[in-house]
Amino acid sequence: MAQVVVIGAGVGGCSAAITAAKAGVDVILLERNDSLSGLAVWSGKTGGTQVEQEMKLMGGGGIQVSDSLEKYALFHARENGEDLGFIYDVMKAHQAMGDILEPAGVTVRLRSRVMDVEKRGNGIKAVVLDNGDRIEGDAFVDATGRTGFQEMCATLGQGCVLCALKCPLFGDCVHTSEKAGVSDVAVQSKYAQSGIRYMEATMLLPDSVAPWIIDELKNGPLPGRYDYTVPKEMIGMDIRDEWLFPDRAPETVVATPELPTFIILYTPWLKVHINLPTRILHRLPGLETAFPATPLSAEGNAVFVKKTAPCDNTLKVNGLANLFAGGERARPASAMTTCQFLGDLAGHNAARVALGLEPITIPSSTLIGLYINEVKEGSPGHPRGHSIYSREKRPPNPIWREKGFLTTDKDIIRQRVEDAGIVGIYERRLA
Ligand SMILES: Cc1cc2nc3c(=O)[nH]c(=O)nc-3n(C[C@H](O)[C@H](O)[C@H](O)COP(=O)(O)OP(=O)(O)OC[C@H]3O[C@@H](n4cnc5c(N)ncnc54)[C@H](O)[C@@H]3O)c2cc1C
Repeated sequence: MAQVVVIGAGVGGCSAAITAAKAGVDVILLERNDSLSGLAVWSGKTGGTQVEQEMKLMGGGGIQVSDSLEKYALFHARENGEDLGFIYDVMKAHQAMGDILEPAGVTVRLRSRVMDVEKRGNGIKAVVLDNGDRIEGDAFVDATGRTGFQEMCATLGQGCVLCALKCPLFGDCVHTSEKAGVSDVAVQSKYAQSGIRYMEATMLLPDSVAPWIIDELKNGPLPGRYDYTVPKEMIGMDIRDEWLFPDRAPETVVATPELPTFIILYTPWLKVHINLPTRILHRLPGLETAFPATPLSAEGNAVFVKKTAPCDNTLKVNGLANLFAGGERARPASAMTTCQFLGDLAGHNAARVALGLEPITIPSSTLIGLYINEVKEGSPGHPRGHSIYSREKRPPNPIWREKGFLTTDKDIIRQRVEDAGIVGIYERRLA
């Protein structure tokens, strides 16, 4: 039977693996870490966007990833009966992926770090693991994300801050496409900063903060989310000196008059959505004894270096006949659902190529197609639409709105997926 090898078991790689399996090929999923779901252990909020409607109609593994995480939802946001997303238990993200990979027939190998590739002509014949094992395949998906390099953290940031990627234990991430000789492209645009900044989020142990914060999170107006108002006297305060390496610290202040709050999510770790050095957090009412869970340093590096594998609209990596890029490797995506639909297409096309078929593209008349075909170097943001858990921070992009893509009307969404001829496209067995 034809075999597809997926490297990286974040939500992008899990989506790719399941979608490839649906097409009727054998699938092996390799992950360097000891757990599944990649950065999803650190995210927490997802759902409630119209791309999920499109994903559902197309029938790939991506929507199964969302549905499985939703089984572990702690809070749902609904407005006038409309689904606006949910916060899931990040501690169950590994379990949520395991729940769907095995029934899909995907063979999962944890602690399997791909270190090299063996090429045959202009394609890949096998990947080589750090223990020397070779895994052959007919087609491959690079879903290794874009984070997890200790050297990068050391040179651009403050060194390893002991984040969820656990590089000191499992080794740096290694991109398959680069090992195959294809250099990454840096994404330069106002929507995708390259380089390093401070961490976007710190997780705190819930028992270490004041009970009234937990009460707000559980019983407040927006379940699972609390908009923390910074005391007036701290607004605009320059905190560079508080950082371990002030010269490398961002010119950040606790809050500005435009942003007098930061967001805490209950995931059930407490995800503080603007990272502050612990010394500053401890000055805030209710957070005086806040204890960071991850990154353990509670300050440090950003992992948002925006580089992607250069690939076409089928997500085939340039110059390689049988390697596709999924998740954050494919586009400057920074949201789970985006990574999921990028995984779907990469997995499906890898299966097609493994079976000797031509890869497909997704029509730009759908939001997923528009994103894949047009969001490259000049990213117009995330196709996330209207999730209230992220609305204020990243409002819907005007380009989507202009093109009429921000509707929540399920009939309109169905119609455009039907018109594009891609209903159930990932559900059809090809072999
Ligand atoms: C702090 C933080 C908070 C976030 N919050 C949110 C949020 O609330 N909502 C949201 O939608 N998005 C959020 N995001 C973004 C979202 O989590 C990511 O965009 C998404 O999870 C990336 O998925 P991925 O599968 O493409 O990559 P990753 O999750 O990075 O997965 C890549 C996987 O590949 C593995 N790997 C790498 N190299 C190798 C190798 N050589 N061999 C084997 N395995 C390898 C890695 O171990 C990893 O498991 C957040 C991101 C961060 C960092």
